Amino acid sequence: MGAEQLATANIGVVGLAVMGSNLARNLASRDGNTVAVFNRSPERTRLLTTEHPESGFVASETIEEFVSSLARPRTAIIMVQAGAGTDAVINQLSALFEPGDIIVDGGNADFHDTIRREAAVRATGVNFVGAGISGGEEGALKGPSIMPGGSVEAYTTLGPILESIAAVVDGVPCVTHVGTDGAGHFVKMIHNGIEYADMQLIAEAYDLLRQVGGHSPAAIADIFAEWNEGELESYLIEITAEVLRQVDAKTGKPFVDIVLDEAGSKGTGVWTVQNALDLGVPVGGIAEAVFARAVSSHPEQRGPVRAGITARPEIAVVGHTFHDDVRAALYASKVVAYAQGFDAIIAGAEKYNWNIDKGAIATIWRGGCIIRAQFLNRIKDAYANDSTITSLLVDPYFAQAITDGESAWRRIVSTAALSGIPVPGFSSALSYYDSLASERLPAALVQGQRDFFGAHTYKRVDMPGTFHTLWSGDRSEIETVGSSH
Ligand code: NAP
Repeated sequence: MGAEQLATANIGVVGLAVMGSNLARNLASRDGNTVAVFNRSPERTRLLTTEHPESGFVASETIEEFVSSLARPRTAIIMVQAGAGTDAVINQLSALFEPGDIIVDGGNADFHDTIRREAAVRATGVNFVGAGISGGEEGALKGPSIMPGGSVEAYTTLGPILESIAAVVDGVPCVTHVGTDGAGHFVKMIHNGIEYADMQLIAEAYDLLRQVGGHSPAAIADIFAEWNEGELESYLIEITAEVLRQVDAKTGKPFVDIVLDEAGSKGTGVWTVQNALDLGVPVGGIAEAVFARAVSSHPEQRGPVRAGITARPEIAVVGHTFHDDVRAALYASKVVAYAQGFDAIIAGAEKYNWNIDKGAIATIWRGGCIIRAQFLNRIKDAYANDSTITSLLVDPYFAQAITDGESAWRRIVSTAALSGIPVPGFSSALSYYDSLASERLPAALVQGQRDFFGAHTYKRVDMPGTFHTLWSGDRSEIETVGSSH
């Protein structure tokens, strides 16, 4: 490592903790890439270059050396702690980079931060790309799903490099230019939200098979492994079978029985729900998943409530086709959760002015990321058939899938309710579907209540205009169009 480096690297990585190291090794393993590396604490850099001489890294111990080791347009991927760490590195790089160079934030940034950072960096002439990178440590090393935002100009240089390291499904790399500024991190956030919903639904299916079906975790592992051969085939179903098959070495008990039942979260699910609330998009599946983790994490409430209950409902008696019903309910609920996630993408794209190709998003989620699944091909096909559909639920394939599973879905939700098994994901998905399917909703009564106490006005079914009833007067109706209401 010298004070001045020759500009030999076509790509650089800043931040060499587990994600950055793995991404740098992945980049170095692809033909045509020479990878510059830098970390604030040089020990990490030395460790990486010593342990992986095969990668041929161009290592630097100062940010100046690192920048001088990059060929133009200089392109650096930041993989440091999200938040202040990312801002610190962006400031260092933008002070040294020149117009046309590209700074990529591959961390888990809040997309609002990405919008802010992109505008600030772009003002200096440097390109800024917020790229969602999914797949954890293993994905970073072997092939993640990558969701880059930023300018088209930046993607021209960056795209081929990202395509060289992404997961590949059916010959297609799991990366696409999602849209400008924060679009990539927004879509990554929705990915994580959908991941929450999918995990919760699978957990509910397990709970029903265990408590109502009476199956052991090992038997349920077999059921999930069988499901993984069909339409539910996915990474999450696959690992669920693995987790359920695991036996605790210390006690000989099923692993799932020795794990404390309090689920944590790192916040992206919460971000998804917060933003969906702002956008006015119902993402009940994701919200219920976030809340289910929250409920689980309040033993101080669970314990006293449980202690005060003298009798729980009896578990319903079910037949041998019960597990087929659970599978159908899981599939239908999953369709709803993904439909809601894509609705959030559509609403975000509209609000933030992003031109997002929904089919391309489904395509890049087929590999490398946690929600990877054959199922995403169906979503890709749905948007290829008609990119203007107002909900995935009207796509002929999904509409038929729901119809086919509907009776089983209703049986499962009612069996769960009668047996006292919480299924917030299954039941909210069914209620959402029934809301969309209803001819009339009680929203009419809500409008009446709102008009009563707050003069919020209402529209009539039989004539245009906006109306208010004089509730505290003679209860006659007045038209309020053009009035000060
Ligand atoms: P991390 O633990 O989030 O962060 C550690 C790295 O950040 C170290 O290289 C550290 O440098 C550097 N850093 C922290 N503050 C800094 C500052 N002020 N200036 C310069 N460097 C600073 O690392 P990670 O787990 O590898 O994650 C990296 C990014 O990927 C994060 O944004 C994380 O959220 C994201 N991530 C994504 C996934 C995924 O599945 N996509 C999984 C995990 C993480 P020092 O060595 O000098 O302390």
